Amino acid sequence: MKLSLGPSSEQLDACVTCGLCLPHCPTFRITGDEIASPRGRLTAMGAVADGRVEADDTYAGILSYCLQCRACEAACPSLVPFGQMMEGARARLAERRPTTSGRIRRLLVGRLLNMKWLLALLTSGVALIQRLGVMRLLPRRMRLARGLRRQRVFPHSAVGVHDLSPAVPAGTVALLAGCVMDQWFPDVHDATRGVLQIAGYQVDSPETQRCCGALAAHEGAAGNAAAMAARNVAAFDGYDYIVSDAAGCSAHLKDYAHWADGGESVAARTRDITEFVAELIEEGRLPRISRNRGDVAVHDPCHLRHAQRIIDAPRAIVRAAGYNPVDIDPDALCCGAAGLYMVYEPDTAEELGRRKVEQITAAGPKTVVSANPGCEIQLRAHLGRGFKVLHPIELYWQAIDR
Ligand code: SF4
Ligand code: SF4
Repeated sequence: MKLSLGPSSEQLDACVTCGLCLPHCPTFRITGDEIASPRGRLTAMGAVADGRVEADDTYAGILSYCLQCRACEAACPSLVPFGQMMEGARARLAERRPTTSGRIRRLLVGRLLNMKWLLALLTSGVALIQRLGVMRLLPRRMRLARGLRRQRVFPHSAVGVHDLSPAVPAGTVALLAGCVMDQWFPDVHDATRGVLQIAGYQVDSPETQRCCGALAAHEGAAGNAAAMAARNVAAFDGYDYIVSDAAGCSAHLKDYAHWADGGESVAARTRDITEFVAELIEEGRLPRISRNRGDVAVHDPCHLRHAQRIIDAPRAIVRAAGYNPVDIDPDALCCGAAGLYMVYEPDTAEELGRRKVEQITAAGPKTVVSANPGCEIQLRAHLGRGFKVLHPIELYWQAIDR
């Protein structure tokens, strides 16, 4: 398949330079620099596409500083598909001017994340470091580890798990296991499977699936991302629904039309677990807990809110679990996790994490829900020990399982 990634001249021309996206951009909010804004990045992409500017290290830095949070896309009146354009621009840059750090990043997300044994080995190493209590000795750039310190990390996989089918299933669901999601968030997968079974679905996690490819696409590893998408199109063939409990992954599955033949079918059948379960609650096919258990803060992952425009669903799930959802940020600014961003842009990731924690602390609740693994890790890394961070489906599963 020939990839149809941008930025095309039509896409670039769609930007009318109105600037409405600027206040929604986290990197512009931090720096105040036009070149760290969506409009500035689009101007740079256009200049390189026209041949007016070299695709040099400065250009690489401009692209790399973007979180790919897609808040600009949600704010844009001209419907500029910024996320797809940034993925394309990074892929072209990787072809034209590969840097050593870029090669390492693409090797990591394009190949190594797909090696379950290697991820299990890494997970075992993290588990050992946790047990020895020496997390704080790790280098500053490995802030990720701070978030892992407060969660149970051990080698685990949902791949190949086929839950018993109800006598007359309401439908079949393929659960995307994911890469780090599969290894580091087994409780979220268990909650997802448990809730969907209560609603009468047969839930499988097909053996032949791969990582969705979102991180590879974000890092410009277009060939790897396309190969993963092609594998998943085949693995998920025949299922009524494809469900992901990681917002970054469900957003990417919904973009599969750009990545693989047959991708449109995957996109049409994909549901983020929050929207799927909220609909089932609304239809009365899943229970609501009527008592009031207190307040829960709702963090909106960028790839749920900005990329998929899912806002009400996590709040509806929190309400159905018997809690009162509390908003923390009307702009839903990125928390700074953004895949590998927290590793290669630690200062900006740290600043955004600090701002998010201030908002959570000001809101009051000690329990926070977030529907994306990277955000959960980032929030755990920055919140104090008195806070609990869960996926909304975990909160709901714990509430109805009691
Ligand atoms: S809001 Fe859209 S059209 Fe306006 S500057 Fe931003 S990307 Fe361009
Ligand atoms: S994706 Fe996010 S960080 Fe990048 S330009 Fe858009 S709003 Fe700014």
